[in-house]
Amino acid sequence: MSDHYDVVVIGAGPAGYVAAIRCAQLGLHTACVDDWLDRDGRPVPGGTCLNVGCIPSKALLESSGLYERMRKGNSAQGLHCEGMTLDVPAMMAGKDSIVRDLTGGIGVLFRSAGIDWLPGRGQLQRGNTVQITQQDGSIRKLGAGHVILAPGSTPVALDAAPLRGDVVVDSAGALDWQSVPRRLGIIGAGVIGLELGSVWRRLGADVVLLEAQETFLAMADTQIAGAALKLYRQQGLDIRLGACVLATQAQGDALEVSYRDGQGEHTLDIDRLIVAVGRQPNSEGLADAEADLVLDERGYVHVDEFCTTSLPGVYAIGDAVRGPMLAHKGSAEGVMVAERIAGQNSTLNYDTIASVIYTHPEIAWVGNTEAALQQAGVEYRSGIFPFAANGRARALHAGEGMVKVLADAGTDRVLGVHILGMHASELIGQAVLAMEFGASSEDIARTVFAHPTLSEALHEAALAVGGHALHIARSRQR
Ligand code: FAD
Ligand code: AMP
Repeated sequence: MSDHYDVVVIGAGPAGYVAAIRCAQLGLHTACVDDWLDRDGRPVPGGTCLNVGCIPSKALLESSGLYERMRKGNSAQGLHCEGMTLDVPAMMAGKDSIVRDLTGGIGVLFRSAGIDWLPGRGQLQRGNTVQITQQDGSIRKLGAGHVILAPGSTPVALDAAPLRGDVVVDSAGALDWQSVPRRLGIIGAGVIGLELGSVWRRLGADVVLLEAQETFLAMADTQIAGAALKLYRQQGLDIRLGACVLATQAQGDALEVSYRDGQGEHTLDIDRLIVAVGRQPNSEGLADAEADLVLDERGYVHVDEFCTTSLPGVYAIGDAVRGPMLAHKGSAEGVMVAERIAGQNSTLNYDTIASVIYTHPEIAWVGNTEAALQQAGVEYRSGIFPFAANGRARALHAGEGMVKVLADAGTDRVLGVHILGMHASELIGQAVLAMEFGASSEDIARTVFAHPTLSEALHEAALAVGGHALHIARSRQR
């Protein structure tokens, strides 16, 4: 194995492993260093996303969703299910096998691309040298023409709720429970708290989410967030806003959580607790002090719009740099950086990175919210179409939610699309494409969509921007 590479990538999550693959495609001699170990202490690529993030959470959302639908049956469809049983360890084993297949797949991709996979902890040192501390404690040094830092992020800890065995856990722990807690508390009603709360509620837990902010999902469109909150509460998620957790105390096998809200101090008795209060960049020890890598005050690696750091030839991507902590954002940065290293002039349009929350119904959006446009003083028109008026949604028994299209009042260019509804995660791709191509709402309105599809709701919302949605009563159009 060589001691000098064109590119050394530190981190094999979706940012780093994709960067490494694109570098190799472009003919660059590439190594990827990563320190993730699986439960059995074996090095595995994939980072947070594949091992304890996107993939295992979606696998459990799917299994728990199916369980709930089967258990409840559907009298409107004449479906009743008796004798249903739940085998949580088997569900977890199924999830683990999906993770194993996908992380194994990255190994195959690395081998086929000629990327050297180097398990161990990497540290950037002066002069673009990467020092690797290997699992057996031995040290290896690599020289690199370019270094890509992709160390990802880790859950933020809360002094008021220190982790304890499988009773007080972070998101990774909550993806591995082998039994359903009777009473589950979750600190933080953000994306991760809501997705994990959905999994365990569907499997039978009584779930209370304590959220410090008064505003629910502050980053989403206000109308969509309000409608979602109502639906989640109807499903049984007990979401308490303005509730700041102060302390947790063990009570035998159970826990007492104290929190403060506008009414005063309260206690909550639960059996297990998930701490889901956000994630922080994994930048500690990433660079030797002498390397002089600039971090910002919150520990993110400082980068410009091309992900170049303060050091020549050193780039940083993914959760460890500014912008949303999303896998596809990190992967896109990885591709951009690889292509720039290879001499191309690639850029990344951060305005069209979609966000998704995989609850039921799902929430997905791209571009500006109404509040952001108002704050920026942009004149806009909005068109809304409810899934209740969409034939396919009704046939799917999924009439909840809506599509909202926001377009510039002068140019009609689409500035934002917000969806609450079944398969919003898939539908949003059409809006991303439209915005990436600079579409107007009329462009979407003049496009012919297949019938019956959920996509027709996007079409109708675009028509509604101009005040002529076809399946909304005239009196209800703007
Ligand atoms: P990571 O995936 O964190 O990978 C970084 C890798 O670098 C890790 O393997 C780490 O061990 C390694 N590393 C760090 N420092 C070093 C070092 N010094 N030397 C060697 N190796 C090092 N995002 C979505 O887009 N969609 C979702 O549905 C979604 N769901 C999520 C669900 C959960 C429960 C969680 C926790 C996260 C979810 N995310 C989701 C976020 C997503 O997982 C992250 O945005 C993504 O993993 C970030 O990719 P990354 O490559 O920057 O970092
Ligand atoms: P996210 O960043 O989307 O993962 O969401 C994390 C959520 O946790 C945010 O909405 C925070 O407001 C919330 N949070 C942080 N600290 C506390 C706390 N002590 N008690 C309750 N909620 C908190």
